[in-house]
Amino acid sequence: MGDERGKSTGQRQLSKAQLERRRKRRRKAYMMRAACVAALLLIIFGTIFGVRAVIKNKEAKKQEEAAAAAAQEAEVQKEADAENVLIAQAEVTAMGYDYDGAIQQLQAIPDYAGNATITGKIAEYEAAKTKLVPVDVETVSHVFFHTLVADPSITWNLTGANEYKIADYNQVMTTIDEFNKIMQQMYDRGYVLVNIRDLVVETTDADGNISFAKNENLMLPEGKKPFVLSQDDVSYYFYMTGDGYADKLIVGEDGKPTNEYTQQDGTVVTGSYDVVPCLDDFIEAHPDFSYKGAKGILALTGYNGVLGYRTDPDLAKTAEEGNKNATEYGVFDYQAEIEKAKPVVQALKDDGWEFASHSYGHISYGSSFDKVKTDADKWQERVANVIGPTDIIIYPFGTDIGSWTEYEDTNETYQYLKGQGFRFFCNVDSNLYWVQITQDYVRQGRINLDGYRMYQDIHNGANKLTELFDPATVFDPNRPTAGLDDWDDK
Ligand SMILES: [Zn+2]
Repeated sequence: MGDERGKSTGQRQLSKAQLERRRKRRRKAYMMRAACVAALLLIIFGTIFGVRAVIKNKEAKKQEEAAAAAAQEAEVQKEADAENVLIAQAEVTAMGYDYDGAIQQLQAIPDYAGNATITGKIAEYEAAKTKLVPVDVETVSHVFFHTLVADPSITWNLTGANEYKIADYNQVMTTIDEFNKIMQQMYDRGYVLVNIRDLVVETTDADGNISFAKNENLMLPEGKKPFVLSQDDVSYYFYMTGDGYADKLIVGEDGKPTNEYTQQDGTVVTGSYDVVPCLDDFIEAHPDFSYKGAKGILALTGYNGVLGYRTDPDLAKTAEEGNKNATEYGVFDYQAEIEKAKPVVQALKDDGWEFASHSYGHISYGSSFDKVKTDADKWQERVANVIGPTDIIIYPFGTDIGSWTEYEDTNETYQYLKGQGFRFFCNVDSNLYWVQITQDYVRQGRINLDGYRMYQDIHNGANKLTELFDPATVFDPNRPTAGLDDWDDK
């Protein structure tokens, strides 16, 4: 036991240093293993994370590439869409016989020369242009309307204190349905709406003097017949209130002119209830009905305001102050009404419509010079201040200021109106066309497309409208006879 103990003691004694070394070795080995394990773990995790990062990176790159490709595709699509819009716009221009304008629009498209669709269209327009022929501007018809009847069931059936109006309405008014049928038939017969200015070439010399010459270059396809259109008394007069007509012209949500109309139950609706939006609708559906986007002429008086706005200063007066409309129709802040009318005027101009004087008080311009002068001055003060200047005059009652011979410089009224800037003078004439062009002015007869004219054609063989349309298929069968049959002698 002692030996053993001694041995073990000796061993113990002997291995103290050894033990220390061994322990160090073991620790070293342990440390090494731990380091190896750590390194291994690092490698393993590193690899895992590395691979994951690479995968992630690749995915991100893929997504990025896909997004870039989609964006590029969208850009290409956008360009193609924009291009198609421009091509469609050029097509509308070409349908209005403005082939040069259409070609210019197409040539403004970037890289158009490399696009077969576009070069094909250009060639098509060039070919169409060669087929145009000049129109004789002295054979251009001018048709006119008054406010369209929006609800004939009201207008033709007025009773009591309003019944007296039926005969007048029946003579001089046209219903929306009749108007649309007339436009369709004229379109079918090759008529094309032109601007009255298209009849002439206007030049201004160094001193600012204007002179006219016949336009030898009003070009339309063979067989097409140009015509001018106007509408008289676009005032929505007080007396027409509730009789089945629109209330006023307004600017629609699309920025285009349209009407406001109060239905019989009192609800106010917006839409095509008179000439302006009805014609606009027709031209939008048939762009080849309008030469270079031409629209009509709106002839305005002033005494009830313009376009349905009560813009005349007299309408701001009370009944006591002498405003005979005040009791029935109210008193208006005419300045506020002018501000409301101005954007409508602008929308109409932007849409291609022209304005004309129709006198301030709807008086005959065949009256004495002093009477005409007073009225013409009032028109400048109270209507031109709302709609801007114009050089077109549409005579009330169609009464001209001279005979069919050329205006003489000795004609005082002519001199005065010329001094106010008027150059286009329109009377009423039942002939299909009547045009007088001199160096100083343009004069044109207009034919009324209303109940009276249609009735005379249908029942009395007047035969004034048959070139334009077939009155028998247009005439509203619900029209009464009041005002029509007692005009048979005319
Ligand atoms: Zn009138």
